[in-house]
Amino acid sequence: MGEVRQAYVQCPVCRYVFRAPSTGSYVTVGREPDLCPKFPGRQSDGTRLIQSGVTMCPACSFAAGEPFESLDLFPDERSGIEERLREDGLLRVLRSNPPSWLPFHAAEVCGKERGHRSKDLGDLCLRASWVCRKEREQPFESTFQLRTIRHFMRALDSEGLRREELAVTTYLVGELNRRLGHHREALNWYVNAERTLQEEAGGEPNLAWLDRLINRQRELAEEEAA
Ligand SMILES: [Zn+2]
Repeated sequence: MGEVRQAYVQCPVCRYVFRAPSTGSYVTVGREPDLCPKFPGRQSDGTRLIQSGVTMCPACSFAAGEPFESLDLFPDERSGIEERLREDGLLRVLRSNPPSWLPFHAAEVCGKERGHRSKDLGDLCLRASWVCRKEREQPFESTFQLRTIRHFMRALDSEGLRREELAVTTYLVGELNRRLGHHREALNWYVNAERTLQEEAGGEPNLAWLDRLINRQRELAEEEAA
């Protein structure tokens, strides 16, 4: 089991200094079919490890997946972010008593303002959905799965993903649709993912796991759709 340590960091937006969890290396015992890592030991420890991938400033709610000390923001970038954070409805309501997924939402808001790729925004929402599942927050899990699908589809349309990233992202759109009960949609995306895997990364032995996963989940979706 990995440990979550505390370290002082300074917010690159409002300069507030606070203690944030930082994670050393940790052990996983496989992944669920939507690639959520499984950890040995207690669920709550696993949630904390996933959460520690994003830092959120308790003063202004700026959040990012990158270490704060590595971020150097321009003044107009800072004011743009501050404005977005102030105007965000969810943050306004929930910031005083933040649920475990809120830092991912805040990082998505900030990532949009900072012009991050849709692929990366989707990854944030996917991790938020994992946290919600571990915390049994089902409606929020679905919300984040939908947001992940939306970001990933935009990424597939316009961000020129290649090889493994392309195949995995296509597969995940299928898997998240299956989890949301959209079985026909899911089946189409599994077929896409299979084709992408053959065309883009055919015969790469390190992607055999993905080939097996696509086949297994496609069979599952076929059973569920019947
Ligand atoms: Zn701040």
